[in-house]
Amino acid sequence: MKSTMQEYSLTIGAIARHGTTVHTRRQVRTRRPDGTMRVATFAQLGERTAQLANALRALGAGTDTVVATFMWNNQEHVEAYCAVPAMGAVLHTLNIRLATEQLVYIANHAGDEIAIVDASLAGQFSEIAPHVPTLHTIIVTGDTDLSCLIRTGKRVVRYDDILDGQPTMYDWPDIDERNAAAMCYTSGTTGNPKGVVYSHRSTYLHTMAICAKGALEVGPEDSVLPIVPMFHANAWGLIYAALMAGADLVLPDRFLQAEPLVELIERERPTIAGAVPTVWNDVVQYLEERPDADISSLRLVGCGGSAVPVHLMRTLHDKYGIYLVQAWGMTETSPLATISKPAPILDDSQYWQRRASQGRPACGVEVRIVDSDGTVVGHDGEAVGEIQVRGPWITGGYLDLEADNSFDSGWLSTGDIGSIDADGYVTLTDRAKDVIKSGGEWISSVQLELAIASHPDVFEAAVIAVPDDRWQERPLAAVVLGHAADVTIAELQDFLRDKVARWWIPERWAFVDQLPRTSTGKCDKKCLREWHSRGQLTPADLTGR
Ligand code: ADP
Repeated sequence: MKSTMQEYSLTIGAIARHGTTVHTRRQVRTRRPDGTMRVATFAQLGERTAQLANALRALGAGTDTVVATFMWNNQEHVEAYCAVPAMGAVLHTLNIRLATEQLVYIANHAGDEIAIVDASLAGQFSEIAPHVPTLHTIIVTGDTDLSCLIRTGKRVVRYDDILDGQPTMYDWPDIDERNAAAMCYTSGTTGNPKGVVYSHRSTYLHTMAICAKGALEVGPEDSVLPIVPMFHANAWGLIYAALMAGADLVLPDRFLQAEPLVELIERERPTIAGAVPTVWNDVVQYLEERPDADISSLRLVGCGGSAVPVHLMRTLHDKYGIYLVQAWGMTETSPLATISKPAPILDDSQYWQRRASQGRPACGVEVRIVDSDGTVVGHDGEAVGEIQVRGPWITGGYLDLEADNSFDSGWLSTGDIGSIDADGYVTLTDRAKDVIKSGGEWISSVQLELAIASHPDVFEAAVIAVPDDRWQERPLAAVVLGHAADVTIAELQDFLRDKVARWWIPERWAFVDQLPRTSTGKCDKKCLREWHSRGQLTPADLTGR
């Protein structure tokens, strides 16, 4: 029997229209360079979204035109998030932190035709544009001298000029929910970046999952601060979630250091935020110098991208009443795959053990573990293997890449290694490319890093495998110490004794001023390995400790 229900397409246009016509009084507030805020209501956002769509159409954009953004988190970026997919074009958020060469590769691979570029990034973009033949028009938001962009030979226009005088209504087309809506490239730490193309349907369903109580529970009483860049896996879905739920958006623009972030939180009083652990580490450290600062408006903070240290969760919980919730996912998974919100009925240690895990799958995502023979292993919390996922917002391939070994009978092989327990909690032990095999046994770099970072004198730690004559590989710990830290290697080794297996404890340590970072703010282990192979992380460099 067929159902009697309507075939209503789940589209980004539907989310944007809902947000801007139902939650008309909600606001998007963007930080200006002088610290004041630019404010637009969602109703105004709706009008400007229509104006942008009209302007893009006048510039030649139509169905499937790829419109790139090269922008910070601000109001214009939200307008592009709404207008581009809703008019049937494809939004391509370029990662502004990548090297020019990689950006040129990505923009060409995606076939970018129009780019919306923040004024502060004009110089950087002028290095890319001449090498992208498909790109014909650059739209600049904000005020800057356009000459470097004009020299690229592309048509250059100002965002405000092209919106000016455009109708505040647009005849939004009916769009098949399976069509492309937006695209994002993987970071390409190994090999070239790969294109992930989200559909309207995948984005709609992912947005509902983000808003759900088991996830980030975004509601009309909330004000959402996405610190995670809008070019990093769609700001983890927070923009569309705010539009769907009718929550305010507070946007930091390019002011992402701890001090301006804390000021923004104090003044704008968001209730929900999202950012990688490094950002919260910096914020906590900054708050030690500013104990009077009040960030307690935040009740829930989504955190992921790399493992979230328990002491960070506890500090934010104990001092500010903030629930730092760990989620796991990747560009390929939109990105939410699992999230750790255990029921508080557990005893304290079980509860925090679960909070420290990567969590349980969001409804819609299925997760399994496959061992090195390709056999699916049980959910016993012990068996470790590669994590595979499938679901309506998980990619089933990469753009224009026929042969790729990331797919296994409809499942995406994530390249992450971990286990699943009987209650469905996933614990990630490593990325396949970072595993350490010592004397034939695995050492989990993630668990070892978390254990080292739980020392009060340690700010951050990263562990890589280095060659060893006797054990083939041994861990090397690169450690960033806190401000007033005074700890020796022997003390750190001693500290680890009751936390990890004895044979996991590294003999090799290096103290560094900071860890190298990837374009998405994670520790760049490829770079650490390079430092090591160039002799820059040898015991001789241990600053006399
Ligand atoms: P990249 O790290 O290559 O820039 P993504 O931003 O898509 O690309 O990151 C996805 C990867 O980040 C995952 O495959 C996983 O290794 C890591 N990751 C994400 N969330 C977590 C988490 N909560 N704990 C540990 N690792 C995580």
